[in-house]
Amino acid sequence: MDVFGLIGNPVGHSLSPPMHEAAYEELGLDARYVTFEPDEDGAAAAVRGADALGVAGLNVTIPFKQDVLDAVEPDDLAERIGAVNTVDFSGETPTGHNTDAIGAVRALRDHGVALDGTAVVVGAGGAGRAVSFGLADEGMTVRIANRTVSKATALAEDVPDASGHGLEDLEALLSDADVLVNATSVGMDEDETPVAADALHGDLAVLDAVYSPLETRLLRDAAAEGATTVDGAWMLLYQGVEAFERWTGRDAPVDVMNDALRARL
Ligand code: NAP
Repeated sequence: MDVFGLIGNPVGHSLSPPMHEAAYEELGLDARYVTFEPDEDGAAAAVRGADALGVAGLNVTIPFKQDVLDAVEPDDLAERIGAVNTVDFSGETPTGHNTDAIGAVRALRDHGVALDGTAVVVGAGGAGRAVSFGLADEGMTVRIANRTVSKATALAEDVPDASGHGLEDLEALLSDADVLVNATSVGMDEDETPVAADALHGDLAVLDAVYSPLETRLLRDAAAEGATTVDGAWMLLYQGVEAFERWTGRDAPVDVMNDALRARL
């Protein structure tokens, strides 16, 4: 039996186990997906321990995505983002990857969104970094806006063809933009939005990384303007799909994984 898992703290309410186990069942794979909660400073030791125990693959979530860099060989994208959410143990040494970036890209593409214009990314934390690099690698011009402006400008120096701003610039930044991604935690479990409704328009495609609730205030406001809306479960789904395909070498049963995820949201 292959063991896959997730390290984070807390991980009690993670949706990854049912999403991945639905895929194993669909494809008849002899595999389990389990969650682990290492101590605050125990991420690197957990990765080394998992390697020693023959664990086949690990996802990594808050607060460990940066810490595990010390215990893996990161690929180019994970190194540029500075965070790992997927560890692969199939080679000589564990390798680290970041599937949040491609998760956002595939979520948008799946909804017919062309990724060739200008994107506004709100947030410069872990998700903001991943989404900014992901969209820039697709060839988009990326405008990053963050509450703490210095984090946005620092990130913009690393991301090709990017600029950093404060949240007060959002209306101007969005006026001619094609894509908006909320990569802050604003809207999670509360009816708030990081972007005033007045700043939205019908030519935008809006992805909210927040997936609880699925229909955030930002997405409601965007839909009211006629914008294309993409909820955060699509990003969560595709980061899981990418991890599954890397670990197993099989095409993921995307619809089955999506159903398993949405049944719990
Ligand atoms: P993080 O590293 O802690 O970053 C949090 C971000 O939110 C920072 O940019 C922070 O700004 C901003 N923020 C927090 N409170 C704010 C407020 N009241 N007003 C304005 N900005 C605020 O967290 P993360 O890992 O990037 O996660 C961010 C969100 O993305 C979470 O809701 C997470 O669940 C979601 N996410 C979803 C997926 C998915 O697959 N759908 C994947 C990853 C993350 P400052 O820098 O100024 O503090």
